[in-house]
Amino acid sequence: MYKLIDGKEVSNHVKTKVREEVDALKEKGIEPALAVIIVGNDPASRVYVNNKKKACEFTGMRSVEYAMPEETTEEELLSVIDKLNADDSINGILCQLPVPKHISEKAVIERISAKKDVDVFSAENVGKMWQGDYDMASCTPMGVIELLDYYGIDVCGKNCVIIGRSNIVGKPMASLLLERSATVTICHSRTKNLSEITSKADLIVAAVGRAKFVTADMVKEGAIVVDVGINRNDDGKLCGDVDFENVKDKCEFITPVPGGCGPMTIAVLMKNTLLACKKQNGII
Ligand code: NAD
Repeated sequence: MYKLIDGKEVSNHVKTKVREEVDALKEKGIEPALAVIIVGNDPASRVYVNNKKKACEFTGMRSVEYAMPEETTEEELLSVIDKLNADDSINGILCQLPVPKHISEKAVIERISAKKDVDVFSAENVGKMWQGDYDMASCTPMGVIELLDYYGIDVCGKNCVIIGRSNIVGKPMASLLLERSATVTICHSRTKNLSEITSKADLIVAAVGRAKFVTADMVKEGAIVVDVGINRNDDGKLCGDVDFENVKDKCEFITPVPGGCGPMTIAVLMKNTLLACKKQNGII
């Protein structure tokens, strides 16, 4: 019988721990604050930004939103980032991606001060993560690690296969698993014999972006399956990359979608903002 990994429970656990620390900091007169910039009217981005605001409310952090119109120039956006970088009352800054096409995503990411880069997207912070010399780790991959830790799943020596090589999921996921002494394979769109590789995996992390991509024949009996994907099925319902109904019975542990990795990303964002605040105030 498989065990379901409950991302809502774990994210509440992480956010509650953050709230306790935020309360203690407030007693010392320090109020952690996250600035969120959103450019344009992308409905999905709006939902993500609202969820981040709600998480700030839950954890007791101050949230500041900068909603900028679609026509905002890169220069205007960068000058808002400069202002927030210089503002000592702001500990974390994130710009909701994607930004409109006329703005360079790279320029935006690199303009945010590394110490306030709570998404951990900058080259400096990604480099530190790969060196194992970091406080803040990439939100979605660290969310996966939090899930594994909560359920007592030790990846040391395990054969872990990540499907997807993006900068926000696949690559940093590899870094964090490697740091925990897993044997890591990253598969991607050009990988040959994918199912041959995944069917030997003790742990599969799926981050492809295609519904029902991971099928039962790709999964070993007793494997742990973590589904990062967020897709819509033919009925318009939210689903992951894993054919959950057919895969679950082969697993020791499996994450559902929704309610698996999704809630963890924001929980880690809260944790990172707290860490950034503590670091900026000389507490760690
Ligand atoms: P992406 O499009 O940047 O990357 C997808 C990856 O899948 C690529 O590296 C590609 O090589 C790989 N891929 C595509 N086709 C493949 C194939 N046939 N075989 C093997 N690999 C293949 O996407 P991303 O940003 O990494 O996101 C992946 C999924 O995770 C999406 O569904 C996204 O919505 C979701 N996501 C969820 C969260 C969360 O908070 N839970 C956060 C980020 C992304």
